[in-house]
Amino acid sequence: MTQRVCSVSIDIDTLACYAAIHGLAPTPTGPMSSDAPADAIYTHAMPRFLDLFAKYGIRATLFVIGRDIDQTRHADVLKRAVDEGHELANHSFNHSYRLTQMSEQDIASEVSQGAEAIERLLPEDQRVRGFRCPGYNTNPAVLRVLREQGYRYDSSVFPCPPYYLAKASIIGLLALRGRPSRSIVGSPQVLLSPNRPFIPGENPHREAKASQRLGGSETLWELPMSVLPGVRLPMIGTSLLMYPRWMLGSFVRGMARTHSFLNLELHGIDIMDPNDPGAKRLLPHQPDLRVSLEEKFDRFHTTFGLLSRTHSFLPLVEAVDWIERQS
Ligand SMILES: [Zn+2]
Repeated sequence: MTQRVCSVSIDIDTLACYAAIHGLAPTPTGPMSSDAPADAIYTHAMPRFLDLFAKYGIRATLFVIGRDIDQTRHADVLKRAVDEGHELANHSFNHSYRLTQMSEQDIASEVSQGAEAIERLLPEDQRVRGFRCPGYNTNPAVLRVLREQGYRYDSSVFPCPPYYLAKASIIGLLALRGRPSRSIVGSPQVLLSPNRPFIPGENPHREAKASQRLGGSETLWELPMSVLPGVRLPMIGTSLLMYPRWMLGSFVRGMARTHSFLNLELHGIDIMDPNDPGAKRLLPHQPDLRVSLEEKFDRFHTTFGLLSRTHSFLPLVEAVDWIERQS
């Protein structure tokens, strides 16, 4: 019987998504055509992560943006991931940072179009079961849509005050400089969200009492990104790369000790080399890009090595079954 579980997930945000966050030049808004240039997140970063995961026996969850799938080389990387046992989950069709400001009908279409694109890469009997909102912003309408469309889990809640404050400051600063970010500050309720999996009711940031649980054929779980209890320091890719090196081992051990279930979220850019195509223009805006590739590998080896001593790695969709058996 598995005692402790860690799920590693990657949001496959392309370099165009980062340009949008930093208010840089316009990015494609529609589906990618099959002959559009491939994005280095797919061609360079993702193969590195897949190789690393193979080394540690990690089957991960990849959150895919539906519009990116038409590019043949992107689809090839995702097919490799499916063959190697990774889960493909839905990161919406267009990755709009304003998803939570859309009408419920438009949210439903972002979710269903994303799933349709991804399911083209899956065996016929397999459906997409998990969703993550762009920019960690979710709301009651998103959860309603996920329940209607038969989802098993949402993993969009990041209950991390240091991250929330940093994001709010950056968005404010960019607006002052007349270069507005296309990202938005979400509901501050996220700051008080549970730091463990829970069953939400209407409110995506609160656990529902048993009597308030909403019906449906299956229960929809919320799987927040794990943070350190108390101070709520984040354990996402960027923080693992930016913490002082001396603190990394004790931080990861502390996270492992305090969580029987760990939800570790990474982004493709976390294993990007600044010399990879298209990365240079982001250098002034992404301090983590300045960390050398060698240092990045070293830090991920430390992290995965430590976690593999105490936790078994399962994709989020399988972790939900495990969590349900424990509760
Ligand atoms: Zn994203």
